[in-house]
Amino acid sequence: MDLSVRRIAVACILPVVLVTLLATAWAGWYVGAERGTVAALGGQATLQASTTEALSALSAEIYALDTLGALPDEVPEELDPYLTDSMSLGAGGRTLLETADRRGAAALERLADADAPMRDSTRRALTRMAEEDLARAAIGRMPDGASVADYADAVTELQASFASAPASTQAAVDALVRLGESPPPWRRPGFVGALAVLWVATIAAAVVIGRSVARRLRRAGERLAAEREHIEELSRRNSRLLEIVDASRRVASGTDMESVADAVATEAASLLAAPAVAVYLLDGAVATPVGSAGGLTLEPTGAAGGMLGRALDTGAPALGVVSSDPALPGMSPVAVLAAPLIAGRRITGAIVVGRDPGRPLDDQDAMELRLLGLAAATAIEGARAHRSATALALTDALTGLGNRRRLDDDLARACAPGAPRPVGLVMIDVDHFKNYNDAHGHPAGDEVLRGVAALVAANVREQDVVYRFGGEELCAILPGAGPAEASGVAERVRAAVAAHDFPGGAAQPAGRITVSAGVACEDGPEGARLMAAADAALYRAKREGRDRVVTAT
Ligand code: GH3
Ligand code: MG
Ligand code: MG
Repeated sequence: MDLSVRRIAVACILPVVLVTLLATAWAGWYVGAERGTVAALGGQATLQASTTEALSALSAEIYALDTLGALPDEVPEELDPYLTDSMSLGAGGRTLLETADRRGAAALERLADADAPMRDSTRRALTRMAEEDLARAAIGRMPDGASVADYADAVTELQASFASAPASTQAAVDALVRLGESPPPWRRPGFVGALAVLWVATIAAAVVIGRSVARRLRRAGERLAAEREHIEELSRRNSRLLEIVDASRRVASGTDMESVADAVATEAASLLAAPAVAVYLLDGAVATPVGSAGGLTLEPTGAAGGMLGRALDTGAPALGVVSSDPALPGMSPVAVLAAPLIAGRRITGAIVVGRDPGRPLDDQDAMELRLLGLAAATAIEGARAHRSATALALTDALTGLGNRRRLDDDLARACAPGAPRPVGLVMIDVDHFKNYNDAHGHPAGDEVLRGVAALVAANVREQDVVYRFGGEELCAILPGAGPAEASGVAERVRAAVAAHDFPGGAAQPAGRITVSAGVACEDGPEGARLMAAADAALYRAKREGRDRVVTAT
């Protein structure tokens, strides 16, 4: 901007200075011309006066020479007007001659100063006489310095010069009159006005041009600033996108549902500087919380209400400031933003962000949360798939019970420090099952296995878990159960199976389907030892006649 102001100043001042200089130069030239004319007129006047003086001095000199009788008898006729009729002045003649001679010399000097053209004869006539010439004249003899012809020439020349003088004087006067008739430009009507108009027009033009330049500069500056702002905004968005990509990568690195959902909530909270975030998964008409940040206590909620409901309904982010929202209990009032979780074409849930209503969430936040939601939905679906794959891998397909691998994991956990003590373990085996298979076929045997598994599961305590150990052997872990309680549970299971009327059971050696059970309990348990003890007890039950419970001692 500094630059533009300086340009305007220069644009305004420069033309004014130029116009003023031109006007001054013109006026100077004009004054010079006038002064020249006046000087010429003065010179002309001086020349004329000197010529008059020279003529007068010369006539007096001729007159004096005549009175002194110094002139020859015959003189040129040009001198006639200056001669006297033999009137003698006596000694006065010489004085007159001297005076006239001095005046003539002075006039000569002035004529020479004025560079007046002059013949030699005139110069000799006007030149100061030598003393001897004066003495010669005094005694009536013609001086040597100038002849009468010289005097005649001089008189003729000076008279001619005098006669011509008025003409040149008149020319000078005429020049002055012309100057007077044509007054200097600044005195002519309208000159000052025209100059002022020129100045004003020049200044106005300079101001207009200057302002236009300044305006263009300002606009260019504004465009540049806007461009820079745009670039900064793009780079800010870029780095936000990178942050979202990073957050998405962190979210996607988890495999189990809880840690993925919590990571989603934590990343959303940090991305949007929000104190509370909840992650809900859609389950029919209910939204179930699966993760949160900010210490929220969440319950399943209806999938139709609040911002959560809108996001689940429309598949687009919903935001606003509300007095309360069922998806964010305990926050009131609250700025809410809910972004859907979309996996493939399915809306699987939503991330709900709560913030201080003084800092409402905007469309930019919605866009960012939506991007995070895309990665989160994929990660959550991955975790879900992982969970069901894991569940499948740990479940026995025939009975739906936990399989051997799950039994090993759970037994290790049950035996780990901090778990309830003592730990009871019951091993159950169907009696003469080979016999049943042989009599009724494997499919019927499978049905019996399924029925036995259901009866066992129905007759253990709530905290007990039943597994298929392998073949027709089942197993139950009884956390916190001592020998009495554990054998009580095993006895209840045995009785339930014995009481159940399985198809074809009558053909079994006992006339029905029965099971034997081995029970073992330990206070400081070790999985393998417990298992071996229960197994040994089971073998004893078999040996002792089947359809019974034996507890390891
Ligand atoms: P015991 O009273 O001594 O246990 O006699 P058992 O016949 O039950 O014992 P054994 O170990 O000789 O036979 C076990 C049988 O269980 C062999 C097999 O046919 C049957 N079995 C194992 N797994 C399955 C299964 O998944 N389905 C069916 N139908 N039968 C199975
Ligand atoms: Mg058996
Ligand atoms: Mg067996």
